[in-house]
Amino acid sequence: MQLIESLTESKSELQAIRRDLHAHPELRFEEHRTADVVARTLSGWGIEVQRGLGGTGVVGRIRCGTSRRAIGLRADMDALPIQETNGFPHRSHFDGRMHACGHDGHMTMLLAAARHLAAARTFDGDVVLIFQPAEEGGAGAQRMIQDGLFERFPCDAVFALHNWPGLDVGQFAVAPGPMMASTSEFEIRVTGRGGHAALPHLTVDPVLVAVQIVQGLQGIVTRARNPIDAAVLSVTMIHAGDATNVVPDTARVGGTVRTFDDAVTDLFERQIRQISQLTAQAHGASASVDFRRSYPATVNHPEQAEFAARVADRVVGAHNVVRDVDPTMGAEDFAFMLRARPGAYLFIGNGAGAHREAGHGAGPCMLHNASYDFNDDLIPIGGTFWVRLAEEFLR
Ligand SMILES: [Zn+2]
Ligand SMILES: [Zn+2]
Repeated sequence: MQLIESLTESKSELQAIRRDLHAHPELRFEEHRTADVVARTLSGWGIEVQRGLGGTGVVGRIRCGTSRRAIGLRADMDALPIQETNGFPHRSHFDGRMHACGHDGHMTMLLAAARHLAAARTFDGDVVLIFQPAEEGGAGAQRMIQDGLFERFPCDAVFALHNWPGLDVGQFAVAPGPMMASTSEFEIRVTGRGGHAALPHLTVDPVLVAVQIVQGLQGIVTRARNPIDAAVLSVTMIHAGDATNVVPDTARVGGTVRTFDDAVTDLFERQIRQISQLTAQAHGASASVDFRRSYPATVNHPEQAEFAARVADRVVGAHNVVRDVDPTMGAEDFAFMLRARPGAYLFIGNGAGAHREAGHGAGPCMLHNASYDFNDDLIPIGGTFWVRLAEEFLR
């Protein structure tokens, strides 16, 4: 590995920043202390800082040379509503809040790169350091864009890194095209006519209708969708009734749809409405459908994905850069930035959990797990990658 010496030498100092952030997790749009730490740290290194974009967002900018070509590097700042089960000293100080997705590490890798870039000044142009709030379901990236992120800080391309448990430390993964899925939520409300369970002929039973709708929805995946297009439809909620001898008036069915393509999402929305309404109608009931699109698919631009992969080749060796990684059905709001600017989203290997076994408690370590921890060995690797990416982009 070709790591930058100043980053490996200052690993313990950077680790202390990461562990302080880990110990003080804040939920989406409440990242006040976190934003203070990020802003104060950047300012301390002489970096220009703007606050308040997207609420708690922080943007740093390092200008060098005469070119106004610019690269945006993004880290997310928010934690999750999870009770941490780790026992190490830097575990969450707050009940019910935890950095279980490694955003503490993402911020630290970007801070590490910022410090080096501000001191070394080995590029010609602008490096825009984007610290965004509310990645976990709050669409903080979209809020920053709506607040004029790319007008106030023009970027020719944007990049983001996410740690990935199970991928070896020292590996990167990036693919052209989809990396993460879009996510949509739906809720179907079936209205029948309640009454005595012993006299069903005098009722319109919404429970029977709801169950038939649930079965019908799976037909979208198996019959209506082109099998080439990846998609998931999960019904995760059915609510109806309170008594064994009463047919209720209404029933509710809810769930999620994940796809890699807006046209496929359109198909699912159309079909969910049609199946719900016509199934209800067949039984003399009615159905209303609420379909909400949360995050679009995270789709890498091929040119920027290959550019980032080549930079990663230089840092960790080409054999450690996975270029044909399968996309996952999880979602990521960096998708909004990739719709606004060309760019790419990469995974950086967080390892198989060995970093957690020494006094960190056992257990699996997938993201969003209560015993997850970011692997501090990634700080100089991710930091070096960010530095080389910026230098190469702004040669
Ligand atoms: Zn997450
Ligand atoms: Zn995350």
